Amino acid sequence: MSLDFVFEPPQQPAIPVEGEGPLFPLRRIFCVGRNYAAHAIEMGNEVDREAPFYFTKSAQCLCHTGSVIDYPVATQDCHYEMEFCVAIGAEARQVDPEAAMDAVFGYACGIDLTRRDLQAVAKHLRRPWDVGKDFENAAILGPVTRKEAFGAIGAQTIWLEHDGARVQAAPLSDMIWSVPEIISDLSKLYTLLPGDLIMTGTPAGVGAVHPGSRLEGSVDGLVPVRVEFRA
Ligand code: MN
Repeated sequence: MSLDFVFEPPQQPAIPVEGEGPLFPLRRIFCVGRNYAAHAIEMGNEVDREAPFYFTKSAQCLCHTGSVIDYPVATQDCHYEMEFCVAIGAEARQVDPEAAMDAVFGYACGIDLTRRDLQAVAKHLRRPWDVGKDFENAAILGPVTRKEAFGAIGAQTIWLEHDGARVQAAPLSDMIWSVPEIISDLSKLYTLLPGDLIMTGTPAGVGAVHPGSRLEGSVDGLVPVRVEFRA
């Protein structure tokens, strides 16, 4: 029996898998806060290893690489944050870091678009970050490269260029919490399932975009992510 809906249900958000036809269906997007020491410092925060913390974006925030988008509404200070993204391909529940990589399908480049002014108000008033982080086109994602094709996570450079100028660059080994540690920790808060994606934090050098801005970022071994803001 086919289901009957009062209106057409939304399309399943999905991103390409490099070199393959079938798509990676996007489920939830988890984002790690302050995972590079130099970025924590530039945001005026202390660096600590007490525990990673998270916020989320809905999969409906997906913006495909190569898009031309409008400057976001309700902000005067929209920032780019270049991120190494981990695509989950198997269930992970209460896993140790040693077993965590079994849950990984692959990796992608992503930009965590942030309405910094709204996030700043939320931080000040101890309100949730949603309006600063979870809005249309706020998760710009490139295609997923399978983990076997990428190889081990080491000192690959993550970088971003704004209008052709390199503004962010750091080795992935600068992450305070490693990918297995993040998956393990998240798997104790949620049951991670295929389609979930983790944005693992941004290195130093975040900054504001403007109408007409062009962003291009990548991680050695991954397909770059690109976006342009309508002038
Ligand atoms: Mn971020």
